[in-house]
Amino acid sequence: FAPWDDPNEQPLIRFKNVTKRYGDFVAIDDLTQDIYAKEFFALLGPSGCGKTTMMRMLAGFETISEGTIELAGQDIAAVPPNQRAVNMMFQSYALFPHLSVYENIAFGLRRDKLPKEQIDDRVSEMLKLTRLEKFARRKPHQISGGQRQRVALARSLAKGPKLLLLDEPLGALDKKLRQETQFELMDIQETTGTTFVIVTHDQEEAMTVASRVAVMDEGRIIQVATPDGIYEAPNSVYVADFIGEVNIIKGTAKAANKEQYYVDWGVNQAPILATSERAFSDGQECYLAIRPEKISITKGKPEKAENAVQGKVLDIAYLGNLSTYHVELPGGLVIKAQTANTRRLSRRDITWEDDVWIRWNATAGVLLAE
Ligand code: ATP
Repeated sequence: FAPWDDPNEQPLIRFKNVTKRYGDFVAIDDLTQDIYAKEFFALLGPSGCGKTTMMRMLAGFETISEGTIELAGQDIAAVPPNQRAVNMMFQSYALFPHLSVYENIAFGLRRDKLPKEQIDDRVSEMLKLTRLEKFARRKPHQISGGQRQRVALARSLAKGPKLLLLDEPLGALDKKLRQETQFELMDIQETTGTTFVIVTHDQEEAMTVASRVAVMDEGRIIQVATPDGIYEAPNSVYVADFIGEVNIIKGTAKAANKEQYYVDWGVNQAPILATSERAFSDGQECYLAIRPEKISITKGKPEKAENAVQGKVLDIAYLGNLSTYHVELPGGLVIKAQTANTRRLSRRDITWEDDVWIRWNATAGVLLAE
């Protein structure tokens, strides 16, 4: 059982019908969501959808207009920010420039007036956790960006919070370092068993690090699922479109067999066949969401006739490991198909303006109502 599927597991955090208003503006709209201990929970969504507001309410920097947030069974509204077992790490890191790495990490522990020995032990543990032992005496300007990020993380974890909030924690790092650091972040989260809630604009990052991803829009959570659940089984065109690349084919449904529908998509070839657990009535408007890598592309007619259509290659994007083809169908609809380049391309391969066939399985896409 994953904790969110286990009926006996108590959530660490419960948002219950939480609304946040700024004047007349509704930033969070009647939001209900559980997050479990030891989860790495990602909030993903366009700018202004309310991600930071959710974090700020958890941290206590923002009041709640309606509803309640519970942390470990306790309503947090009455608990002042510094008494919540919650810490927040900002993108800017906000390290003290005149203090050493050691002193930065020790800062909160000293403020709590812990005995020196205990502080020493705890800081050593944090230095080890974040692989910063060698840099303990340096000042922030004497270490790299990635190391500064780890100091900030060590400092946020020093007091052993139950919950760490990470607002774009890797935003200041370049792409390669960012990807490496994502794995470190996952390791550290697992080692400490702290619950992490992360806000990121980077969908790949959310998919890499998170146990579950919440996709938000205008103050609401549209879908919460594991990364592959979000990618393979989006609940709406909005989510399908937000994560990764997708073809959205609009049409009308007509029952075929059990859990299968014909989709009349206005293309002057046979209707396409789609499997769906969701029920559609005959003539109902529907959207088939299908990922480009689920669509094969061939010069010759494929053996299987199901969902095979002819078109012309408009353009090709070569991405090294992958190639994406834009294929125009009769009537003008353009479909993206993607193939893995497992060997070097040659002149015999599909090229621009070729007449091609594209094809996919009935189970390859998701049929959506909106
Ligand atoms: P971004 O990804 O750009 O950081 P976000 O999803 O984190 O966006 P929030 O910062 O949570 O978005 O803001 C949600 C909405 O609430 C935005 O439309 C924002 O303009 C509004 N908002 C945030 N803080 C205030 C405030 N103090 N007063 C009025 N409106 C606010």
